[in-house]
Amino acid sequence: MSRVHVIGAGMAGLSAATALAARGRQVVLHEAAKWAGGRCRSYHDTALGCRIDNGNHLLLSGNHDTMAYLRRIGAEDTLTGPDRPLFPFIDLASGEAWTLRLNHGKLPWWVLRRSWRVPGTGALDYLALRRLERAGRDDLVAGMLGGLGTLYDRLLEPLAIAALNTKPEAASAAPLAAVVRESLARGGAATMPRMPKVGLSESFVDPALAYLRTHGAELRFGARVAGLTVTDGRVSGLAGPNVDEIVGAEDAVILATPPWVAAELLPGLTVPQMHEAIINLHFRAGIEPGPAGLYGLIGGTAEWVFEKSEVVSVTISAANDRLGQDTDELAAEVWADLRRGFGLPRTIPPYRVVKEKRATFAATPAQLARRPEARTALANLILAGDYTATGLPSTIEGAIRSGGSAANEI
Ligand SMILES: Cc1cc2nc3c(=O)[nH]c(=O)nc-3n(C[C@H](O)[C@H](O)[C@H](O)COP(=O)(O)OP(=O)(O)OC[C@H]3O[C@@H](n4cnc5c(N)ncnc54)[C@H](O)[C@@H]3O)c2cc1C
Repeated sequence: MSRVHVIGAGMAGLSAATALAARGRQVVLHEAAKWAGGRCRSYHDTALGCRIDNGNHLLLSGNHDTMAYLRRIGAEDTLTGPDRPLFPFIDLASGEAWTLRLNHGKLPWWVLRRSWRVPGTGALDYLALRRLERAGRDDLVAGMLGGLGTLYDRLLEPLAIAALNTKPEAASAAPLAAVVRESLARGGAATMPRMPKVGLSESFVDPALAYLRTHGAELRFGARVAGLTVTDGRVSGLAGPNVDEIVGAEDAVILATPPWVAAELLPGLTVPQMHEAIINLHFRAGIEPGPAGLYGLIGGTAEWVFEKSEVVSVTISAANDRLGQDTDELAAEVWADLRRGFGLPRTIPPYRVVKEKRATFAATPAQLARRPEARTALANLILAGDYTATGLPSTIEGAIRSGGSAANEI
């Protein structure tokens, strides 16, 4: 029976591997690390004495391909979030707190309700979101939406930074438009915040590995693929410190590594080469449970706060300019914001700062122009990964969709 070799067990690789296994294909998964999940995983933190995620990941109920993936691996019940589309916010400068609420249906009548909108905005302000319908790759978020005053400062800017992980002055509006098209424009039912109940691995990784095992896939960890052998325009072999594999004439390969590894393995491949960091700070503390499990912070160092069972975690996106900052100083700065927003004590509890330097590619027009299509010049090699030309930003949904598309190509 022919086999499909999937290289990389992040979201894209697991999506491709499980989609193929579901169709009865023989899959071999090669993962360089000793664990799966890539940029989306959980682990035990010894300093905090509990499990944490490498970074808080926010999903939306409209992330179709992700929901289909979770159903396939039997993990559809592992996400949590409010049963209504709502997003609580706190403005640290003014001390105001509000909850943005949407109605479920496609017709956005919620903008007519003052108490459901962002304070200081009028119903007509929201019409400006329609500008995104004509967003092209070279249009910048700040250029298209920046003049919208309070709506921009209190909603669109934090939304754009969360979705694109790039400062709005540099970010293309096109991938933001794609996110809005698949969520907000389809109504509140597609815009409900979703997060893992327990952890990223418990939702996205462990059930996928169990699914692959029961479907007869071969899982190889510590298997870094360092070179591809090419014969007559096809991949004929995989090589690496622990990899020595003949790829048969009927076999196919899905390369689901991050972009920088794909470019090393396939010289001449154009991929995004500039990245943005995300910094997460996990404090061993709790906050008063809110209606959604998360809060948007306006005017703080971090943009989002997540209530977890054992920690309170915050996310600083587009954080390249913070990478050099001393971690104790950063933690003190963020804790001061949390104190102001949630009335927490002065003493900083134990914490962990996780700096993911290459969390996502920078969603600038120049980097978007470098996203490759899934098909390559090699007949049996398909690319998958959040960096490929999905039209979406670098997200779980983008990665999972790319894996599904790669499986379809095969
Ligand atoms: C801190 C943080 C916060 C984020 N927040 C969000 C969010 O809120 N919402 C959201 O949707 N997305 C978020 N993302 C983005 C999301 O995590 C990524 O888009 C997604 O996980 C990328 O998956 P991938 O499979 O494309 O790549 P990766 O996760 O990078 O997977 C690639 C895999 O390939 C393996 N590999 C590398 N080289 C080799 C080799 N030579 N041989 C074999 N295997 C190899 C790697 O070990 C890895 O497991 C966040 C990311 C980070 C880091």
